[in-house]
Amino acid sequence: MFAFTRATQRARARLAGGVSLTARVRSAMAAALAASALLGALFGPAAAHAADTAITVVAAENFYGDVVKQIGGNYVNVTSILSNPDQDPHLFEASPKTARALQHARVVVYNGADYDPWMTRLLGATAAQSSQRTVIVAADLVGKKPGDNPHLWYDPQTMPAVARAVGAALDAADPAHKSVYDANLATFLGSLKPIDAKVAALRAQFKGQPVTATEPVFGYMSDAIGLDMRNLRFQLAAMNDTEASASDIAAFERDLREHRVRVLIYNSQATEALTRRMLALAKQSKLPTVSVTETQPAGVNFQQWMLAQLDSLGKALATR
Ligand SMILES: [Zn+2]
Repeated sequence: MFAFTRATQRARARLAGGVSLTARVRSAMAAALAASALLGALFGPAAAHAADTAITVVAAENFYGDVVKQIGGNYVNVTSILSNPDQDPHLFEASPKTARALQHARVVVYNGADYDPWMTRLLGATAAQSSQRTVIVAADLVGKKPGDNPHLWYDPQTMPAVARAVGAALDAADPAHKSVYDANLATFLGSLKPIDAKVAALRAQFKGQPVTATEPVFGYMSDAIGLDMRNLRFQLAAMNDTEASASDIAAFERDLREHRVRVLIYNSQATEALTRRMLALAKQSKLPTVSVTETQPAGVNFQQWMLAQLDSLGKALATR
């Protein structure tokens, strides 16, 4: 077996210089702060009150931020750092805005397993200012570490664990609203049941079917369904932005061209030339494709996002 070690030297070098405040950013921030102070003064105490009393939460990824919002409701003020489904999160660079948001966070949620190593660094840099801060690391909750597939939110076991930890953190930060958080947590856990039911239904129908993917983003879900996921080395190279070997590329192309797999699962956030070429080849070979993203799209919640992807996978697998 090989490990899911990420971040080439190139990516690390790019990350290294990311946290310093340039003068331009500083003056832009000062202007923004002045503007928000002005708005606060204009729109009065109601808006200021909500901002003051809400629990400030920073989530490194927007699906964790969504879970916090669903449990915290009006009592949380959530900032999600990775929230653009058109960008590759593996190439993300931390910005001054990220560092600033973290300084004031009472609760922080991030993925871990080396998906977002910039979080560990930023938290270290701002540790002294917030001794009360609760930090929730999804990987720690489900026993994953650097070298494991980092796309943990596609594992049906991850979100219930994160949600429970979020509920406990909000209870501790704001005991006055414990009953609200507990009720919202129960609702959230209940709302995951259709996802589990869908996974079970797909498993009953398609267990053991061969599939392939451009990146390991859907890996845990594929395992939960019991699919036979092929071309893992190719996927790892795509994730790490390194070169796939000629023989791995040839094997991938043969799988598509000769329909040795039922479906190509395509990560629409990792759009290197080679992954685009595989998508084009699948379409040309009339092989069903399913688009997945690693960041939650705007306008849907976590549950809707997962269900929509599982539905399109089910349709694609049913195609002959
Ligand atoms: Zn990924």
